Amino acid sequence: MNKPLLSSEQSVDTAILVINCGSSSVKFSLIQPETGHSLLSGLAECLTTPQASIKIKHKLTPSENEQSETSPLAQPYDHQQALTTLVSKLRSLNLVENIIAVGHRVVHGGESYAQPVLINDDVKATIKQLAKLAPLHNPANLIGINACQQAFKDLPQMAIFDTAFHQSMPEKAYLYGVPFSLYREHGIRRYGFHGTSHFFVANQAAKLMGKSLSQCNLISAHLGNGCSVTAIKNGESVDTSLGMTPLEGVMMGTRSGDIDAGIVFHLVEQLGYSINEVDTLLNKKSGLLGVSQLSNDCRTLEEAMLDPNHPQSAQAKLALTVFCYRIAKSIASFSASLTTLDGLIFTGGIGENSSWVRTQIIKQLSLLNFSVCEQANQTARFGTNGNISTADARPCWVIATNEEWVIAQQSAQLLSK
Ligand code: AMP
Repeated sequence: MNKPLLSSEQSVDTAILVINCGSSSVKFSLIQPETGHSLLSGLAECLTTPQASIKIKHKLTPSENEQSETSPLAQPYDHQQALTTLVSKLRSLNLVENIIAVGHRVVHGGESYAQPVLINDDVKATIKQLAKLAPLHNPANLIGINACQQAFKDLPQMAIFDTAFHQSMPEKAYLYGVPFSLYREHGIRRYGFHGTSHFFVANQAAKLMGKSLSQCNLISAHLGNGCSVTAIKNGESVDTSLGMTPLEGVMMGTRSGDIDAGIVFHLVEQLGYSINEVDTLLNKKSGLLGVSQLSNDCRTLEEAMLDPNHPQSAQAKLALTVFCYRIAKSIASFSASLTTLDGLIFTGGIGENSSWVRTQIIKQLSLLNFSVCEQANQTARFGTNGNISTADARPCWVIATNEEWVIAQQSAQLLSK
């Protein structure tokens, strides 16, 4: 039998380096898996452009004040160089010895991965092959994996997939009503995303209820710039609103969510759009931004809506109203996937912070016995977890998500196997 890579004594002071690589950014965090304490975190952005920057914050003990710094950069500055900056910072803080593994957020694991996996050449080849399903994300994730393998030659690297939690969906939930050969031959089906977030908040809700996750039936709404709703039965995802790509489902910051597919033909055939223009329209110019004609940012829209002198006040309100209605409809539709429902969870930047959005959504759901306690709703923000329902209604929790911690925990669990 293989010796465990992580012994029980090792786990006390050890940390996992969590890497989330985008096409032009690297987000990183050094996390103690048991506590979720982040010793160091940061973001390198606009990589390979003259505007490239890297910010690193550290707080080595819970009592220490957070230190923040921005490094001067040599040009051109890419993912590899960002990781080199990170490694020298970790060295100067004597943290390298504490790192026992690197956990990578990988967006698409297709049907190949329902669990985290230790990265080897075969795993990298599969991630590359799955890039056809996530052309913007999987290649960037591979850049991060390759750069970390260079920078941390002796450390095990783990892949934690955004799609993995939803691999428990049944056929009836993941198949589209299109010829079956498209699924069989080309993998055209629903996969879902935001899996680590839905998993984390479902676990937290289970703790709040004093139950094990496998006893819980929940609907969770991750509302940020990207949004998704998931039905969780006995602790497992049984349906989710994002599909083969992150364009399906509820309306989002700049993405349309569900539309009549016939609109695409109308745009191309009647209005002369190219297919690239349709792609940009639906992914980058729709959602809250498209309807409000002002912003994709919920805070900006709420401010405009509440200011009667703002020229876009009515349009901002319209965008937020459509947003909330479509999310409520999605939540209600997911009750069809469950036989009992313990409660609803709000998470993500909007779900955790916007009491207005939560109120509008809950008001639409009175048939499911949801009812908001406005006093609790107003105080639930900035990371305070709690139930915002009235005493006689079904629970509705606001829970701050922490995807990095899930990645750190799952990497540590994989190491100890
Ligand atoms: P995320 O993608 O999870 O970081 O969420 C980003 C979204 O959260 C943006 O639309 C923000 O405007 C929104 N958000 C963050 N803080 C607040 C707040 N206090 N009130 C309303 N929306 C917020």
